[in-house]
Amino acid sequence: MGSRKIAVLTSGGDAPGMNAAIRAVVRSGIYLGMEVYGVRRGYNGLLNGDLIPMDLRSVSNIIQLGGTILYTARSPRYNTPEGVKEAADQCRALGIDGVVVIGGDGSFRGARDLTGAGIPCIAIPGTIDNDIACSDYTVGFDTAMNTAMEMIDKIRDTSQSHDRCSVIEVMGRRCGDICLNTGIAVGATATLVPEVPYDFQRDIIDKIKLAQTTGKQHFIVVVAEGVSGGFAGVEKIAKKIEEVTGIESRATVLGHVQRGGSPTLRDRVMASSMGAYAVDLLNRGVSNRVVAYTDGRITDYDITTALNMPRKFDTELYRTSDRISI
Ligand code: ATP
Repeated sequence: MGSRKIAVLTSGGDAPGMNAAIRAVVRSGIYLGMEVYGVRRGYNGLLNGDLIPMDLRSVSNIIQLGGTILYTARSPRYNTPEGVKEAADQCRALGIDGVVVIGGDGSFRGARDLTGAGIPCIAIPGTIDNDIACSDYTVGFDTAMNTAMEMIDKIRDTSQSHDRCSVIEVMGRRCGDICLNTGIAVGATATLVPEVPYDFQRDIIDKIKLAQTTGKQHFIVVVAEGVSGGFAGVEKIAKKIEEVTGIESRATVLGHVQRGGSPTLRDRVMASSMGAYAVDLLNRGVSNRVVAYTDGRITDYDITTALNMPRKFDTELYRTSDRISI
């Protein structure tokens, strides 16, 4: 027997497309005859009993909005065995027999623990970083990359006019996917990701000098937050580039702008598909699964298995980026 009264929450960092996922969960649940509740502020909402009944119209006019109408939070109180038990008791008291959690891998651990405490959970990857090992795609990734690309295109205009070097930090502490993809899309001279430690001379200076010999006079260096090797921090990298090459260099940290904005078509459709798929699983009595996009289709994995998978880095795309940045 599948779930009949389900709740949906967003947890961890927000990502554009979370609203589209909430909408799909609410509408699919109601379509399948379930009662659906929205939990506010992640796992905190479960602990505080902050749940609101959702009907078809409660999710009208949100598919195009960034952020999350349910708000999100990090909940240290939930992240303890007592917190998990309390949340499960709260669900039982309210008759909630299924929860859809939209978030990153920390939120998945929370979903696994809640399932262990007797409340069936399904997780949906919602994070701009694309850092979920079992899935080729996470909701929010496409919007974040497109935002970064648009911002860097604007910086390029001014960088080109002044023959400058622009060093730009994009998000990605452990995962270089935003950096690698936007680096290619903006024609960066150097792209520095956490997965490949960089050498300042070889990966930046030599590349700039080589490009100068063919007439290039402005340069874009895209750096992921969690870059390893060389110097850390775009301010420092820009300063060193200027010292060594004499090219005027400026640092920009794009920051939280990458988290916001109206989700792209890809994020809206992916979030809608994943949301509907998650509810289908609960309806069939399946739990403790992560919804994933693998080899071009939506599928699901056991949460513990998914959490233990090593993350794949697209070395082929990295090679391409390196080859065409000359
Ligand atoms: P992002 O990738 O955007 O950072 P995330 O989901 O990984 O998102 P976290 O801050 O790691 O973000 O986790 C969100 C919340 O999930 C935590 O605040 C906590 O309430 C819960 N959580 C994380 N790890 C665990 C765990 N091991 N057991 C139970 N709950 C957890």
